[in-house]
Amino acid sequence: MRATEHRLGVVGAGTMGNGIAHAMARAGFEVKLYEVSEPALERGLATIRTNLDREAAKGKIDPAEAPTIFARIHAVRRPQELSACTLVVEAATERLQVKREIFRDLDELLGADAILASNSSSISITKLAAGTRRPAQVIGMHFFNPVPMMKLVEVIRGLQTSEATFQMVRALALDMDKTPVEVNDAAGFVSNRVLMPLLNEAMFAVMEGVAKPEAVDEIFRLGMAHPMGPLTLADFIGLDVCLDIMRVLEDGLGDPKYRPCPLLVRMVDAGWLGRKSGRGFYTYNE
Ligand code: NAD
Repeated sequence: MRATEHRLGVVGAGTMGNGIAHAMARAGFEVKLYEVSEPALERGLATIRTNLDREAAKGKIDPAEAPTIFARIHAVRRPQELSACTLVVEAATERLQVKREIFRDLDELLGADAILASNSSSISITKLAAGTRRPAQVIGMHFFNPVPMMKLVEVIRGLQTSEATFQMVRALALDMDKTPVEVNDAAGFVSNRVLMPLLNEAMFAVMEGVAKPEAVDEIFRLGMAHPMGPLTLADFIGLDVCLDIMRVLEDGLGDPKYRPCPLLVRMVDAGWLGRKSGRGFYTYNE
């Protein structure tokens, strides 16, 4: 089967799921979007509409095309409605138990040839695959936020992922006008394994009084041409998310160099989660 012949499904209509459905529909695919929470589904659909309008206003798509793209996204409220899909990308909450159950259900519902992909940022693809009867057809398809704009897709081979599955997902990413980059399954894959220790080290520098957050960020913006300094970025990602990922790296790779910065732990304990809570390394008024 060619990637263009896939019947696509997305599980979860949150930040990533609605972006993935948007990018698939914009590339011409019909996509079923399944979400367990009705308010989250409504929010996800509203976000897609707003983002399509924004793309039309910026001239990235033809304004007349926006409703056609939106009409390719079919909201579904029961997982059974995904049963005819040939490839489903799971973008549900980052909890192993949640994903395990979704993979088990999809494995029962979908045809024997269907591919199950996870957008997880840190959960082992090999572990998710082991809970299914089709480990060769389970793979990681790690998109980046905001999905409609970001080109990269980290394509993660689990230990048992077949070459055919990898090639199919790679072709789908290309059809979605993304750039697939191949990596193997290991804690944090490549993106978070390299990025998070940088953010964590920046926090150590602040904790040890080497420099203030503003100074650390300015060094990275001006000296390394990063669009956002590491502490601004950590606030944007969410300090709780950063801490979770550092713990996945520490547990999964077993090296003390991945020890979460104690300042990060204290800030999360205090409820200072970054932009979303109004306070992190910086304060936010909105
Ligand atoms: P989110 O909280 O915005 O969305 C998750 C959605 O999944 C929620 O709407 C929730 O109701 C839904 N959900 C939970 N259980 C479900 C189930 N059983 N069936 C269907 N829907 C279910 O989270 P997000 O930021 O979109 O993250 C989703 C996934 O993408 C996570 O695995 C995360 O690690 C990964 N990811 C996130 C980012 C990011 O920047 N936010 C980047 C890359 C990857």
